[in-house]
Amino acid sequence: MSEKKPKKVNRNTWVKGVLRSASFRWKPRGEALKLARVERGKYLCKMCGDLFGPKEIILDHIEPVVDPKEGFTGFDSFIERLFCDVEGFQVLCKVCSDIKTEVEDKMRMHYKTQKEEYHEFKKRKKKLDKSESEELE
Ligand SMILES: [Zn+2]
Repeated sequence: MSEKKPKKVNRNTWVKGVLRSASFRWKPRGEALKLARVERGKYLCKMCGDLFGPKEIILDHIEPVVDPKEGFTGFDSFIERLFCDVEGFQVLCKVCSDIKTEVEDKMRMHYKTQKEEYHEFKKRKKKLDKSESEELE
């Protein structure tokens, strides 16, 4: 018989989610949407320059909320980037938004691998230095 374990909730992940949903009520968001509306129900995609309906667009953070290069560095930076000024937002159509996300994900992976390789290198070097100094003794 398997025991039912309470599902472990990651506190940080949960808080991030709450902040993200709260950010939908962030005023500069609405202002950015208004600015991108060229006529009733038509929004201009900042990347491809075509017009789209309200259901075909995404309000994008020009600077991704989590920097692809740095990764999550703490809530101060997360909050600052999530709740940015009106200039920090842009309207994208879904296709353009997907392309941007894909590029950012690739960057994220690239930097993550690089960081891991660097740590691995440092670890190996430490071991090597240690064995060398032991040989000298
Ligand atoms: Zn577009």
